[in-house]
Amino acid sequence: MIKHISHIGIAVKDLDAGIALYEKLGLKLESIEEVPSQKVKVAFFPCGDTRIELLAPTAKDSPVAKYIETKGEGVQHIAFAVDDLPAELQKAESSEIRLIDKEPRPGAHGADIAFLHPKSTLGVLIEFCKEKH
Ligand code: ZN
Repeated sequence: MIKHISHIGIAVKDLDAGIALYEKLGLKLESIEEVPSQKVKVAFFPCGDTRIELLAPTAKDSPVAKYIETKGEGVQHIAFAVDDLPAELQKAESSEIRLIDKEPRPGAHGADIAFLHPKSTLGVLIEFCKEKH
């Protein structure tokens, strides 16, 4: 079951510039973390049940680097908090939605995450996120 929007992922070239902007908007930086599995450095800003997740690439072959190269900076993915990640992946697959990740993998904040393929989801990169907090 989808519970709420866990976070909105926003691709930025420069994490410090992104942090400065969201602080100017009045959000409070919660933490900064490197996620080696996605080759990104992320900064979290809580906003109700949701977080703004700024993503800056740490390598040229990072998926976020490729995203910025083709589409520029901006909203990169939307993550739904789910109660049972393997079950949600199975449900999506049986509904003929293409998966990028067939198995959960480690994301930021100790969460398990998996992405659905944007070709199956009207162009939106959707993440399922089993939050640990
Ligand atoms: Zn995410």
